[in-house]
Amino acid sequence: RTVFVNGAYVPENEAKISIFDRGFLMADGVYEVTSVLQGKLIDFEGHAVRLERSLNELDMGMPCTMDELLEIHRELVRVNEIDEGLVYLQITRGSDGDRDFAFPDPETTKPTLVLFTQSKPGMANSAASQKGAKIISIEDIRWGRRDIKTVQLLYPSMGKMMAKKVGCDDAWMVEEGFVTEGTSNNAYIVKGNKIITRGLSNDILHGITRAAVLRMAKEAQMEVEERSFTIEEAKEADEAFTTSASAFVMPVVEIDGATMGDGTPGPIAKRLREIYLDESLKKAI
Ligand code: PLP
Repeated sequence: RTVFVNGAYVPENEAKISIFDRGFLMADGVYEVTSVLQGKLIDFEGHAVRLERSLNELDMGMPCTMDELLEIHRELVRVNEIDEGLVYLQITRGSDGDRDFAFPDPETTKPTLVLFTQSKPGMANSAASQKGAKIISIEDIRWGRRDIKTVQLLYPSMGKMMAKKVGCDDAWMVEEGFVTEGTSNNAYIVKGNKIITRGLSNDILHGITRAAVLRMAKEAQMEVEERSFTIEEAKEADEAFTTSASAFVMPVVEIDGATMGDGTPGPIAKRLREIYLDESLKKAI
């Protein structure tokens, strides 16, 4: 695989990053994941805009222009022959060759830019999406700026492992009684024709897929309500699902041991998945 590291395309086993990089020492960095379908990037602009926002919130600059970023994405997709898969991008604060809590001088320390691809054949029609996900609930003990897409992913990883240990697929996090989001996705329930998902704030990541799915749901005359919900309300809902750039719309078929509907993906989640894939592909670049 060819990867991109600080201005150069190199084979993955030749890529080098300093051990003093603040991404490595302090999780001082941000990332984006853009999916690729039929060799094209899904919602590149949405991810690029959020990336810029994440960097701004952390007093970091963009290491290149948006056009250059798009060009690197496309080039990696091309040379690695990605038909279905992902482009992962990470920008960390870099290093001035030492470890210190204070940020290094941005005049003399350049951020580290890394991109690589992951090939995921069959992603658009995955077995997981046909089966639906089993979810457990866990307490949300993450920091208070979940709107910034940082590489601090230890607790979400632990949450995923807690789910796997009990034979489930993922975890929804709960704070003060209300669901915030999934470990790597936004969370939704469906009651009748109404799609309910938590409103945007610093408590959750502002999902690029969330924005697209809510827009498409409204265009398809579905009702959308942005408000918090509890796990108890979710268990009694007609359907549940999650959204993310890498799994699109993922139906949820079980929450804390309670079966949703008949235990198979619900009709609204299935329809939203189809609409999302169709519409996004039309606009893919
Ligand atoms: N919430 C969290 C915590 C995430 O990590 C992610 C994706 O990685 C999402 C939501 C979904 O965001 P997006 O649709 O932009 O992939």
